[in-house]
Amino acid sequence: MSSTILFRRGRVIDPRNGVDGVRDVLVRDGRVAEVSEAPLQVQDAQVVEASGKLVLPGFIDLHVHLREPGEEGKETILTGCMAAVAGGFTGVVAMPNTKPVNDSVLVSEYVKAKAREARLCHVYLAGAITKGLQGEEMAEMGALVSAGCVCITDDGRPVMNAGLMRRALQYAQLFDLPVMVHEEDLTLSGKGVMNEGRTSTRLGLTGIPPSAEVAMVARDMVLLEETKGRLHVAHVSCEGSVRLIREAKRRGLRVTAEATPHHFTLDDEAVGAYDTHARMNPPLRTRRDIEAVREGLADGTIDAIATDHAPHGVLEKQVEFDKAWNGVVGLETALGLTLATVREGALSLQRAVALLTDGPARAFGLPGGHLAPGAPADITVVEPDVEWTVDSARFFSRSRNTPFHGRRLPGRVAQTWVDGRLVFEDGHIKESR
Ligand SMILES: [Zn+2]
Repeated sequence: MSSTILFRRGRVIDPRNGVDGVRDVLVRDGRVAEVSEAPLQVQDAQVVEASGKLVLPGFIDLHVHLREPGEEGKETILTGCMAAVAGGFTGVVAMPNTKPVNDSVLVSEYVKAKAREARLCHVYLAGAITKGLQGEEMAEMGALVSAGCVCITDDGRPVMNAGLMRRALQYAQLFDLPVMVHEEDLTLSGKGVMNEGRTSTRLGLTGIPPSAEVAMVARDMVLLEETKGRLHVAHVSCEGSVRLIREAKRRGLRVTAEATPHHFTLDDEAVGAYDTHARMNPPLRTRRDIEAVREGLADGTIDAIATDHAPHGVLEKQVEFDKAWNGVVGLETALGLTLATVREGALSLQRAVALLTDGPARAFGLPGGHLAPGAPADITVVEPDVEWTVDSARFFSRSRNTPFHGRRLPGRVAQTWVDGRLVFEDGHIKESR
């Protein structure tokens, strides 16, 4: 395959570089060589006719559970990367709550080796804050950083010990590392399984009040102000959290945040008749919270759309609601749900692209997320007007746990390129990779 590729006449949206218009994009040896308003004439280039399509920086997902090592029945690094590139993602951050937990160089090296073998997208590592995610003793942060971890998190588990959280924020500054937090005060969420409100009352299920999240965000803002550290708030679900993060940013604190498509699309009524595919943590909230999260996405309070892709097997979901596991898969529906939100008028297309590209890249200091000359040729080509129906049976992910099965969504990924290699095209993973 030619190492020179010309993407001809697509609509290029590159928020970091202020580009939105028809351009030719020239790629040489895995990197962006030129982005030109005038048509380019290049000898011996492989040509991608992109007229009528969007040519975007490859998407970056800051929050993905690849399940390997330990739960390969749910997902492997290979199938997770397949799902990623099928969804237009060229980079994912792999959460550390595997079995064993990624709190060591050994597990980090294992994940990196598997990702190299898969050779599909960039896999960045998140290391654990505490050993075994037990919330008691700090993991070897320096070793995790030298093994390539781009953030630390006990994701899925909050750091209830405020003293330990404070030390983590301080220590992470030595490496300029973001500390990513799942904000939940366990004494407030208790045995709750869904949002506390009218629907939980109707269904007779124990609720989780918004304060379980908001109180922890408030605590961490206090710690952040004092330590001057770097904090990343995972999967924001509540109006109160959005407000606190907005205020903190205004005061100059180094905080970033992400929201998931399910939290800005579905409210707690999706639990309907005990649908376990609507069970997640934090839980789906109210219409008002959705509006607040969308405003946060639009005004820059929230930096990134992240999926919290959380594969589970049928057994974990085909049980009573209060026994079901938390989480949904998200890599293959994120773009469609984001573009559906654009259609509803809650986000501009430019802002939506920024939330999938520049925003996450900046939040964790990752390469890519833009198309300036010299940038890695991570490129996603999208047909924005093509509609499709979500069919979970056709997911590349090994798991099917989605509340969006059967939903019509706009925007189809036509091609995904990573480092100038075509890894996904028209519904197929490219074997020639
Ligand atoms: Zn998660």
